[in-house]
Amino acid sequence: MAEAKTKQKKTPQILRGMKDILPEDERYWSYISKKVADMAHTYGYGRIETPHLEPTSLFVRSIGKDTDVVEKEMYTFDDRGGESISLRPEGTASIVRAYIEHGMLNRPQPVKVYYFGPFFRYDRPQSGRYRQFNQFGFEVLGEAHPVIDAQLMMICYNFFQEIGLPISLQVNSIGSPDTREEYQKALVDYYKSRKNSLCEDCKKRMTKNPMRLLDCKEQDCQLLAQDAPQIIDFLDEESNQHFVQVLEHLDSLEIPYTLNSRLVRGLDYYSGTVFEFWPEPFTAPDTGEEEKKEEAENDKEDNDNAKPGSQSSLGGGGRYDYLVEMMGGPETPAIGFACGVERLIKEIKNRDIKVPKRHDPDIFVAQLGDQARKKCLKLFEEMRRQGFNVAESFSKDGLKSQMEQANKRRVKFTVIIGQKEIMDGTILIRDMENGIQETVDFNKLLPEMKKRLEKYGVKEINGKNNNHNQEN
Ligand code: AMP
Repeated sequence: MAEAKTKQKKTPQILRGMKDILPEDERYWSYISKKVADMAHTYGYGRIETPHLEPTSLFVRSIGKDTDVVEKEMYTFDDRGGESISLRPEGTASIVRAYIEHGMLNRPQPVKVYYFGPFFRYDRPQSGRYRQFNQFGFEVLGEAHPVIDAQLMMICYNFFQEIGLPISLQVNSIGSPDTREEYQKALVDYYKSRKNSLCEDCKKRMTKNPMRLLDCKEQDCQLLAQDAPQIIDFLDEESNQHFVQVLEHLDSLEIPYTLNSRLVRGLDYYSGTVFEFWPEPFTAPDTGEEEKKEEAENDKEDNDNAKPGSQSSLGGGGRYDYLVEMMGGPETPAIGFACGVERLIKEIKNRDIKVPKRHDPDIFVAQLGDQARKKCLKLFEEMRRQGFNVAESFSKDGLKSQMEQANKRRVKFTVIIGQKEIMDGTILIRDMENGIQETVDFNKLLPEMKKRLEKYGVKEINGKNNNHNQEN
């Protein structure tokens, strides 16, 4: 009995494949989401957000029932009303649903949208692969011109370039559905006599989804894929013409790319141009303890699936010219791209790419005694309302610990109220650079601070610069 009483309760643990995003990573997330929004607005994309839950049939119809995503990776369950619903594993299917449902086909075409949010795949967790992960994506619906394909690739290329991430753009065309039918027959013919050398998954793919044979990561399968027929030789005239024009546009934009005849992407709805962005190979000198621990744990759990050196794409996309029609809408050519945010951040960190920090506060509000604390609490709110960038540590009593915080936050000034200042109706201003302290009338504090900060080039008071900064 006594033993049972002292037995420790097990603390709750995060689900496998899920990840908490902690405050220390905030700057990566805000940097990327701002960059995505800026890029999107420059090129005329409007934000769209669709629900995280959709009817299962939406994904089965669009992504395809024989794809890995639908067959093995979807979080699918019956809701309380008995309807089969799924957590969204990708973004395009929902956007096509929304495009049809909201009559966006009647708006001026093309309709350009972008999104940023979580997606869910019951994938085998390993480094850079989670069961809940975030993607941002761009979609252009209602335009078939090859210039759209090239411009979308350029937007993504510029995005990575501006971050400072070396990537390689892989491009291919998988043609029209007719092209693929013919090509798949040729593939199956090629693999028939080589079936014994294929992995178990690929043996199944031969009947279910032959094009996936080409991007299997198993070494033997990769070797066989090298000599397999190439889809480029099967393209119909229209697909070929389109692809040639896309490449011409990329050439004139001077965007380097690699023609990759084995790039097929995993989902049924793709047609014509497909592309991926791969990070250039990089060996991190030291990934840090936490990262190592995470990787070691994942490797331990997933020994069979950890393939060092296997290519992990940062993002990819392609045309889906038949999807709107397949989903019940009119003939509507379209193209899209999605990028994985966790993978992007991992690359940024591995390569030690600097991202801007959140703006440091300018002023720390310090207090000594209960009366002073009350007064400072109000003062802080007033300053924040007026647009000052302020920090505080109101739960602390001693001045020493508050000054430590002020130093840590690298403020330019600390304003201090103690017993004496309460009695006199004054406040102390300490210049943190030279340590000089000056007493001013409490009512004159705000204009005085404005004046002092202007000397530092802080011009946005009473304007936008009003971040609330708490102790950390
Ligand atoms: P996909 O549509 O599968 O090509 O995914 C687009 C991008 O999303 C990939 O290139 C990855 O960067 C990211 N991604 C896909 N699946 C996962 C996952 N399970 N965990 C983390 N990122 C993922």
